[in-house]
Amino acid sequence: MRALRLHGDRDLRLETLPDPEMPGPGEVRIRVRAVALNFLDVWGFRGMAFAKRKLPQVAGVECSGEIEAIGAGVEGFAIGDVVVPYGAETCGECRACREGRDNLCENVAGILGFHVDGFARELIVRPARLVVKAPASVSFEDAACAAIGFGTVQHMLFDNAKLEPGESILVHAGGSGIGTAAIKMAKAIGCTVYTTVGDDEKGEKARALGADHVINYRTERFEGEVRRLTKRKGVDVVFEHVGADTWNGSLLCLKRGGRLVTCGSTSGVSTTMNLMQLFQQQYRIFGSFGCSMANIRQSLEKMAGGMSPVIDSVFPMERFAEGLERLEGRRVFGKVVVTL
Ligand SMILES: [Zn+2]
Repeated sequence: MRALRLHGDRDLRLETLPDPEMPGPGEVRIRVRAVALNFLDVWGFRGMAFAKRKLPQVAGVECSGEIEAIGAGVEGFAIGDVVVPYGAETCGECRACREGRDNLCENVAGILGFHVDGFARELIVRPARLVVKAPASVSFEDAACAAIGFGTVQHMLFDNAKLEPGESILVHAGGSGIGTAAIKMAKAIGCTVYTTVGDDEKGEKARALGADHVINYRTERFEGEVRRLTKRKGVDVVFEHVGADTWNGSLLCLKRGGRLVTCGSTSGVSTTMNLMQLFQQQYRIFGSFGCSMANIRQSLEKMAGGMSPVIDSVFPMERFAEGLERLEGRRVFGKVVVTL
């Protein structure tokens, strides 16, 4: 099979590897059809120093594919089913796993494509319990965005921040993969959406997705604009993933008792904050990482119901690195998908 392996800093090579074994009991073998790119890939690509891993390593942190072989004792799958595998090596036995909260697994052995071999290869064997069947109407490109592109957002907005219909939300980086998904999901339940973008062209596109108020963070202080637009009340929820550059501004955008949920820190991992403001304003801050198996199912259902992920561009496997550079350079509006 062909596989895309990272050998070192920015050194991705398309190679031929032996096919994986046939699936054992409780496993399925998947023919990977599309891989969606994420900032996790960019970090990996840059040779992020703090990730414990062994190179070379197969890239790719989220994908879709079809069932190609089924191991003994596996039920609920047929050859040719479109599926989405979960992106982490969880134990399946700890309390969190048994309760379906795989992203809180006590014995997690790593994230695929980051700590251990990932999905950018033609064939992969996975435990059937970590594979979700997609409704037939969902395309491979869309389904490839279910585990992170949509799943992370579903988890942040609804499991953690408990976003309710009619509330107001500030979505940072409305042109990013998760930003576009957050705008769509929040609008779908009737929220008022404020979003930040880095240029006016992205602003127009964010508006077309349904964002009610678009703020160009390069020309305006977003926290001032949000306070002005909400008549100094602030918003119910802030959807954070920018990190150091926006953290304190994001807190200033919140209503008293507002919720901030974050899943990333692309601008830097450290900041300081005013603790008096935290408790006096009764903010609730949620760290969110990954999603549950249920979130993947919910994401695929949303896609089948007509809420497609915004896809910026599709590249063939040979041009994976080009897709990553596009993402790294923040030239994207939506997701970059690589097809196999
Ligand atoms: Zn576990």
